[in-house]
Amino acid sequence: MTADLIDGKAFAAGLRGRIAEQVAAMRQAHGITPGLAVVLVGEDPASAVYVRSKGRMTAEVGMQGFTHRLPNTTAQHDLLDLVARLNADAAVNGILVQLPLPAHLDEIAVINAIAPEKDVDGFTVLNAGRLATGQRAMVPCTPLGCLMLLRDRLGALAGRDALVIGRSNIVGKPMAQLLLSESATVTVAHSRTRDLPGLCRRAEIVVAAVGRPSFVQGSWIRPGATVIDVGINRTDEGLVGDVDFAAAREVAGAITPVPGGVGPMTIACLLANTLTATARVHGLPDPEGLTP
Ligand code: NDP
Repeated sequence: MTADLIDGKAFAAGLRGRIAEQVAAMRQAHGITPGLAVVLVGEDPASAVYVRSKGRMTAEVGMQGFTHRLPNTTAQHDLLDLVARLNADAAVNGILVQLPLPAHLDEIAVINAIAPEKDVDGFTVLNAGRLATGQRAMVPCTPLGCLMLLRDRLGALAGRDALVIGRSNIVGKPMAQLLLSESATVTVAHSRTRDLPGLCRRAEIVVAAVGRPSFVQGSWIRPGATVIDVGINRTDEGLVGDVDFAAAREVAGAITPVPGGVGPMTIACLLANTLTATARVHGLPDPEGLTP
C-alpha cells in the first residue's frame, strides 16, 4: 500500500484564499484591516527567511504588515518597550516575536509581555493555560495547522488513538491538548519514553515533532495510519522530516511530505490567528473555519 500524500501546500493556499476573502469582507463591512507585526532580533538566516515570507503572505491576504528588525545587540528593555508600543497600537492586531532570540534576551519574559489578545503565536502563559483548560484561546500555529490537516483527512477524531512524539511548548504539548479536546485518546512520547516503536504501532494518528531527521521508522507505523511530520531538518540531502518518508509511505494510509506538508500550514495559521484576533478585539464573531 502506498499512502496518500497530504498536500499541505495546496491546503494552505486554499486556506489563505479563504482568509483573503474574509479580510476583504471585514474591510468592506466594518472598515477594518487586520495588522500583523513581526519582530526579528538578530541575523539568524532561517529566521530572516521566515520573516520575509510572513511579510509577503500578510500582504497577499490583504492584511497590513509591520516588520521590526532589531540588531543582535538589542537590550531586553528596548525589546520590551517595542512590545509595549505594539500592544498599545490599535493598527496592530497580532504580534509575533520570531524565535529563537539571541541568548542574552529572556525569551519567556518577552513572550509573556505580549498582550494575550494579540498573541497570535499562542505562546503566552495565558493562552497556553486557556488551551489546556478548554477556554477560548489563541492556539499555536503549527499544531493548529496539523489539526486542520487531520480533520480534513479523517473527519471526527473522537476515540482515535493518537501518538504525539515530542513535548515542546510550541508543538508537542499544544498538539496533544488539541487532540484531547477533539476527544482523541492521546499519548505523548519524549526522549525518556520506553518502547516508542510499540506505542507507534498502536497509533492511528502519529504526529512527529522530534527534530531528528528520518527518526520514525517505517516498521513502526501501523498499516493505514495517518502520519503528520512536523520535523524540518536541514541535511546534506536537503530538507527532511522526522519520519523516514519513503519507508513510512509504504505502510501509512496518508502522510505529509517535507517540504510541502506542515510547513506551509504554519504561516497560513498565523494569518488565520491574526484575523481571529482582529475579529475578537472588535467584538465580531470568530471567522469561519479558522479556529479549532
Ligand atoms: P524541541 O527540540 O523543542 O522538542 C523535541 C522533542 O522531541 C522533545 O520533547 C524531546 O524530548 C523529543 N525527543 C528528542 N529525542 C527523542 C527521542 N529519541 N525519542 C522520543 N522523543 C524525543 O523541538 P520542537 O518541538 O520545537 O520542533 C520539533 C521539530 O519540528 C523540529 O524539527 C522543528 O524544526 C520542527 N518545527 C517545524 C515547524 C513547522 O512549521 N513545520 C514549526 C516548529 C517546529 P524531551 O522533551 O524529553 O527532550
